[in-house]
Amino acid sequence: MQVDELILPRWIIPIEPQGLVLEDHALAIQDGRIEALLPTAEARLRYRPLKETVLATHVLTPGLVNVHTHAAMTLLRGIGDDLPLHTWLRERIWPIEQALLSREFVLDGTRLACLEMMQGGVTCFSDMYFFPDAAAQAALELGMRACLGITVIDFPTAWASDADDYLQRGLAVRDARRDDPLLSFCLAPHAPYTVGDATLAQMATLSEQLNIPVHIHLHETETEISQEIARSGQRPIERLLSLGLVGPQLLAVHCVHLLPTEVELFAECGVSLAHCPSSNLKLGSGIAPIARCLDAGVRIGLGTDGAASNNRLDMMTEMRLAALLAKGASARPEVFGAHEVLRAATLNGAQALGLEKRIGSLEVGKEADLTAFDLGSLECQPCFDPASHLVFVAGRSHVTDVWIRGKSVVQMRQFVGEAVRQAASEGASAVSLWQNRMELRFASLR
Ligand SMILES: [Zn+2]
Repeated sequence: MQVDELILPRWIIPIEPQGLVLEDHALAIQDGRIEALLPTAEARLRYRPLKETVLATHVLTPGLVNVHTHAAMTLLRGIGDDLPLHTWLRERIWPIEQALLSREFVLDGTRLACLEMMQGGVTCFSDMYFFPDAAAQAALELGMRACLGITVIDFPTAWASDADDYLQRGLAVRDARRDDPLLSFCLAPHAPYTVGDATLAQMATLSEQLNIPVHIHLHETETEISQEIARSGQRPIERLLSLGLVGPQLLAVHCVHLLPTEVELFAECGVSLAHCPSSNLKLGSGIAPIARCLDAGVRIGLGTDGAASNNRLDMMTEMRLAALLAKGASARPEVFGAHEVLRAATLNGAQALGLEKRIGSLEVGKEADLTAFDLGSLECQPCFDPASHLVFVAGRSHVTDVWIRGKSVVQMRQFVGEAVRQAASEGASAVSLWQNRMELRFASLR
């Protein structure tokens, strides 16, 4: 049988079943999907591939899923270091966005983010930002998979004037783009402290009607919780519960500060947690109670958050940091082992976005979103367990090849295709243009 491509790596980690590492196996791609995962000898007998990719020192995994970012904020990378969240938002990010936000800004920033993420092995990202039509355009131009947030915040921006306007505009983008196989959508109220009760309740209903996730920043800082208690007498999670938002469709971002009862509630209700360890550390928000969440059975996905608070969109860093923090903070080295961390960065992320039937593991019939890492270099020697090396040894520089929906987008560390290479070079000049504009207008900020 003829297939589009046969990939022959040293190891394959399919994620499902958990803990499995295959050697002498091949993965066949046909029409964008995984046609087969089988012993190499059998693959050679059965298939006549149009393209054969031998990766002699590599491990092949599902593409990494970044469950929380604000892609266009790459253009604000490094503009507000060393500040706590609320000062950072109110004195840096929101004033700059108020002045510069435009469709062009989001298009250029998201292009840059997609290129950075693809080169780092990320094949799907969940975005919360303005002008999702521009983010959709950037992702599609580059062949990247995205779950785009229908973002709502209770103050006007260049994208929309009020909560209802944000919803209507976001839903219109979804209506126009929902059939594209690389795009999906979620509702993205920014946070309990920036969106009112009526809108949150409306989003709970919409999420059920449209069967799409709700992606929200939640319990990121102690301040957020104490201010909500002072205002409404409730903790933010209690408020979301009373508004009908705590359920399997909820993707709760950060959750640095959780009571044991809230961890149990999340486990019972099937909530997914988007753990963003670098951003939490950099903004001084704290360390999320991941060991407790894992014990309770809460689904953990991993995210980078935006480049303005990280300042990289590097899932390999998040994997290593997540594992080390969970062990260190709980004084339990057995917590969050390599296979569990890899699952968080792939299949759990796909589940949180409602995409687990399509991506997140290497199973026959799923779409071929794949990442190959070269573990042949000296800092990876010796290699007894490639899963351990992916989490504790390798970084994004070890990513060599990336496929999205069966299409090669990065090959031997180079972008594939004229359109992507052109976007990369145009992206570089667009970035320097934005940098100049920001330096002129915001010289005093840094
Ligand atoms: Zn965020």
